[in-house]
Amino acid sequence: MSALRELYQEMIVDHSKRPRNFGVLSDANHTKEGFNPLCGDRLTVYLQEHNHVIDKVKFEGCGCAISVASASLMTEVLQGKTQAEADAVFNDFIQLVTKGHDASLEERLGKLAVFAGVVEFPVRVKCATLPWHTFKAALQDDPQSVSTE
Ligand code: ZN
Repeated sequence: MSALRELYQEMIVDHSKRPRNFGVLSDANHTKEGFNPLCGDRLTVYLQEHNHVIDKVKFEGCGCAISVASASLMTEVLQGKTQAEADAVFNDFIQLVTKGHDASLEERLGKLAVFAGVVEFPVRVKCATLPWHTFKAALQDDPQSVSTE
């Protein structure tokens, strides 16, 4: 395993064991639950948004290491972003995990680039993207429930 790959692996393990921004956000004005039946990942994303700026993001739930690490890193990255910036990150992230290593994508995504290796495990792509689809549905107040199937 290359040093970079090892570093990526460590970061995913760290975030899955000690997820950041984990818990209920009591003053959230957007909330959404997402489910990945393929793996059993289930999480709720809480957002506090004002004037198209995401002030706070938290999540809770349970799932595999990839889904929890993805949610944890997502909450760190999206905090303070405008809705337009968050949309751009969302699109880049989905591209990364479905296409794999891409220098310009990885540069734009910063620490989210740790998920580039997910492309080698197609069954894990849904785990990695679940928090993101749930976030997007929460922000748009989508009345449909989020399921990766
Ligand atoms: Zn999973």
